[in-house]
Amino acid sequence: MASAPSPHPLSHLFHPHHAATYVATMRRGVDHLAEALAHTERRPATGVDPAQAAKPIADVDLDRPLGDVDATLDEVSRLYLDDAVWFHEPRYAAHLNCPVVIPALLAEVFVSGVNSSLDTFDQSVGGTFIERHLIDWTAARIGFGSSADGIFTSGGTQSNLQALLLARDHALATGVPLASLRVVASTDGHFSVQKAARLLGLGDAAVVAVGVDEQRRMDVAGLATALARIDADGHHAMAVVATAGTTDFGAIDPLPEIAGLARAHGAWFHVDAAYGGGLLASTTRRDWLAGVELADSVTVDYHKTWFQPVSSSALLVADGAHLGHVTWHADYLNPKDAAHPNQVDKSLQTTRRFDALKLWMTLRIIGPDVIGGYVDDVIDLAAEVGRHLAARDDIEVAAAPQLSTIVFRYRPAGLSVAACDRLSPLVRAALYARGAAMVAATKVDGHAWLKLTLLNPMATAADILGIVDEIATIGDELLLAEDVA
Ligand SMILES: *Cc1c(COP(=O)(O)O)cnc(C)c1O
Repeated sequence: MASAPSPHPLSHLFHPHHAATYVATMRRGVDHLAEALAHTERRPATGVDPAQAAKPIADVDLDRPLGDVDATLDEVSRLYLDDAVWFHEPRYAAHLNCPVVIPALLAEVFVSGVNSSLDTFDQSVGGTFIERHLIDWTAARIGFGSSADGIFTSGGTQSNLQALLLARDHALATGVPLASLRVVASTDGHFSVQKAARLLGLGDAAVVAVGVDEQRRMDVAGLATALARIDADGHHAMAVVATAGTTDFGAIDPLPEIAGLARAHGAWFHVDAAYGGGLLASTTRRDWLAGVELADSVTVDYHKTWFQPVSSSALLVADGAHLGHVTWHADYLNPKDAAHPNQVDKSLQTTRRFDALKLWMTLRIIGPDVIGGYVDDVIDLAAEVGRHLAARDDIEVAAAPQLSTIVFRYRPAGLSVAACDRLSPLVRAALYARGAAMVAATKVDGHAWLKLTLLNPMATAADILGIVDEIATIGDELLLAEDVA
């Protein structure tokens, strides 16, 4: 049997001559994904374990291509899609992953097809100005003035790193030694602050943790004490990091009070709104972020509460001149006398995806109020679920929900805290193994708790309470079967 002639090697390139191949291939991909989407509606995960997931992938010989789109799509299903974790599934309630909006997926076609790189004007043209317009728009929603600026980044981790780099270099410019610099955040602040301190040569000991109040918000009196001690020790508070939406509790630190203290001590005021940033789009709860306009810099993750595909984040600064701390001129790319505006001058990255187009097309097709409405929906959902859980005597809730997380544990009457500490991780593992639902685990004051992170505006209270019922059932089974108590 004669086999079909191989396609010319150049026919795989995105090029006008191959437009028909491009369209046919993309349609097959979209159809394949749509089919997988329809099939997998039932469960958020299949419960496959790491060894099972690794084996068939390791067995693939990458030197022997399948040479065929359909065969490869089938293989992708087998190796990836069939066991993927689906964030649109109402019983996925683990981490800060959101279902994504379709306009952003449409934008992805252009982001990767045209493949602009946002480092320089001459590689992006309109892309540079679309990104800038979105930065200006976000800065205006924050309440920054006309000297504000910012840059899209790969995520909140990079946004926080860049914020602290600007704060560090701002402090160093006043002549204080690196070893004297301290960064203050609450005990519930994101670990990327510690990581950034390491990367910036400040060391782990440079991060001073302030306690939280009963609502898990940074304790302002504790902050005042910490800042006074830093001064008394002859150190310099280079930055105070407030969190607007902590990862576990969704707590929003008291921004105006923290801003006042940071200013009084000459510290840079950074607001990590990676999670709470979606409130900027809410038409009913924007006031929850009151005081964010007093920040020197703000992290916003569009890939969390703006329902954008990963990656999409930004760092916004009140005074754009500070971004000069990351500017480096290369003769071949962005010389000092460049005639064009170059975003690379403001970024830690060089080659950089045009992620901004996703938010742009989202805002142009559906507008910010829809996004803000989703944020309101998930906050309402968490409040409703929180009320139900508070009324149950076999469930303990660690704190009333603030944004859209609920930290809780299954603790039927008579179960000791120590037994509950052993039970909670087992319940979570069993839940995953059954593919019934996904929740997260966390620790509060050294004890094991479970966490619901609700970012799906289509999930209902009945969906989420169904997870909790499942947890109670599994918990009872484990208590009967195993030596947990
Ligand atoms: C998620 C998160 C981050 C890190 O953001 P990535 O986009 O995951 O890098 C930082 N801070 C807070 C409060 C977060 O919730």
